Amino acid sequence: MYQTLLCDSRLYKLLFKIDQDLAAQAKAKGCHCRGRLDSARYRRKPRGLPTELEDEEDYKKRHSFCCAKDGCRQRTTPPSFRFLGRKVYLSAVVVLVSALRYGPTPVRIAKLRELVGVSARTVSRWRSWWQETFVQTPFWKKARGFLRVPLDERFLPLSLLEAFSDNQPQSRLLCLLRFISPLSTSSPP
Ligand SMILES: [Zn+2]
Repeated sequence: MYQTLLCDSRLYKLLFKIDQDLAAQAKAKGCHCRGRLDSARYRRKPRGLPTELEDEEDYKKRHSFCCAKDGCRQRTTPPSFRFLGRKVYLSAVVVLVSALRYGPTPVRIAKLRELVGVSARTVSRWRSWWQETFVQTPFWKKARGFLRVPLDERFLPLSLLEAFSDNQPQSRLLCLLRFISPLSTSSPP
């Protein structure tokens, strides 16, 4: 199920729309100094997009803003459902590929390479990220307290996906991306 989702171009179009909404909300809110926010998007060259979307202009930039007021000029980068901080691969790919390595029928690296072109080394780096870096973030230490049941951190992010009660893979993924979205930006909240 997660495997089908990984290559579904409709998912990536939806994630773009969600990011547009998040950007519109950030712009409407304005800068903390009450200054107007002007668009100052970052160029990105994300990996992991389905082939038919590889040339999509929408995916070559990340929404970001710069305060228009002299003396402030602070950057605001809204949270994103597509980009996980500075990671080159899209968040959905980092989550789904990492999750597919667990479960009753783990997906082989060769298969994952065929699907999204990810190397064994990258997958193992993500595994360390989930199990060593992610679990130590102040975000996670606080956020895990909000989960209804404690989850097994050894199986992150699969255990987190499965912690959401919706049984549609796409809804679970969206819940997870929303949940971890504070990690997608370094802008102060
Ligand atoms: Zn400002």
